[in-house]
Amino acid sequence: MSDATSLAGPRSRRAFAAACQWIPGGVNSPVRAWKRLGGQPLVIAAGRGSRLHDLDGRAYIDYVLSWGPLILGHAHPRVVRALSAAAERGVSFGAPTEAETRLASVLCQALPSMEQVRLVNSGTEACMSALRLARAATGRRLVIKFDGCYHGHADAFLVAAGSGCATLATPDSAGVPPEIAAYTISCPYNDAAAVEAVLARYRREVAAVIVEPVAGNMGLVLPRRGFLEGLRAACTAHGALLIFDEVMTGFRVGWGGWQQLCGVRPDLTCLGKVIGGGLPLAAYGGRRDVMAHLAPLGPCYQAGTLSGNPLAVAAGLATLAVCARAGFYQRLTARLARLLAGLQAAAATTGIALQLAQAGTMWGYFFADAPVTDWASAQRQHEARWRVFVSEMYRRGVYLAPSPYEAAFFSLAHSLADVRATCRAAAEALAAARAV
Ligand SMILES: *Cc1c(COP(=O)(O)O)cnc(C)c1O
Repeated sequence: MSDATSLAGPRSRRAFAAACQWIPGGVNSPVRAWKRLGGQPLVIAAGRGSRLHDLDGRAYIDYVLSWGPLILGHAHPRVVRALSAAAERGVSFGAPTEAETRLASVLCQALPSMEQVRLVNSGTEACMSALRLARAATGRRLVIKFDGCYHGHADAFLVAAGSGCATLATPDSAGVPPEIAAYTISCPYNDAAAVEAVLARYRREVAAVIVEPVAGNMGLVLPRRGFLEGLRAACTAHGALLIFDEVMTGFRVGWGGWQQLCGVRPDLTCLGKVIGGGLPLAAYGGRRDVMAHLAPLGPCYQAGTLSGNPLAVAAGLATLAVCARAGFYQRLTARLARLLAGLQAAAATTGIALQLAQAGTMWGYFFADAPVTDWASAQRQHEARWRVFVSEMYRRGVYLAPSPYEAAFFSLAHSLADVRATCRAAAEALAAARAV
């Protein structure tokens, strides 16, 4: 039995049935429902280090890590201590604190392009606010995004590509008015020439180009050499702002985000995930002259009751303090590389075509014959094979994303023993997947 229907134990099943009565689909974010994998989701009791524990008392090596934030693993003692100390001092004030300034200064000093930053509560909020700011600063309406990139669930970003890349997009969710979607243009990832063509066609109308500098929401897809440089040149030539959505890559691929590694300087950057250490915290920032359009300095409005929340800021500061240690990213990146080498070897032994990719502490895999470079090629993966592989990995105590269009992650808590156990499980799971 190599499908997902028997993975959840009796307690998980009961708990999920109860959830479905009170919560639509039983989840507070759709991917958690395992629709793509089939079966019912594991209901989680606790997380410790690299391990996730479900209600039925089973433990899993966790490569989802709350979809990216937990770069130190679950319940890192330093984060837990910082949280309880902050809670003792009061959990929210709605007034300035010194800690939020400390976090803002860490972010600005880490990211080459960030002169000022505003703290918000989610990546969705960061991207939505960065777009409004870009429109305010340029006085333009249109935004260019890329097929397969995700920037949260604001109306402007929930659009599907039109029939050709230079056409305006259509809504990708019920409830998004076509008039709103019509301000968004979606281009193929890794195609800077397409963006240049759109900018030339809609002269002086495009406020911003927003991109995941490493795409992590269609599986992990790396930028081709010259892609981000091409976007920078095109934006500069046409007076559009370049927004790097580093919600996933910020403090994940390395201390200064992908912009530090690639040397391309965006005008605005969105952050989230790691910077909150597992609590709801995100940020957007960049050029000081652009940020000056924000209220109370300027006419572009954005606000938040819980923005800069003391608990979230404490978890973020504690997490980043550990990430800042000498050799942190090199160590994790090297250990993750051993995992990928083990997976590649297991795939070679079974004769299965597996496309692996790594960016710092992020990784991804596709069951595909050719390298994946964009949304179209991501859709050519062998999904039935993926489904068997993931189900067999769960069965062997390895927790991977229940969708083939997600990146995987790695943490400080993942030991070499975890890596070896994962490779052993993968060898067996790949052998099972070969039959598909
Ligand atoms: C996760 C993510 C978001 C959305 O963040 P939320 O906190 O889930 O709203 C936006 N952009 C990217 C690149 C992300 O990975």
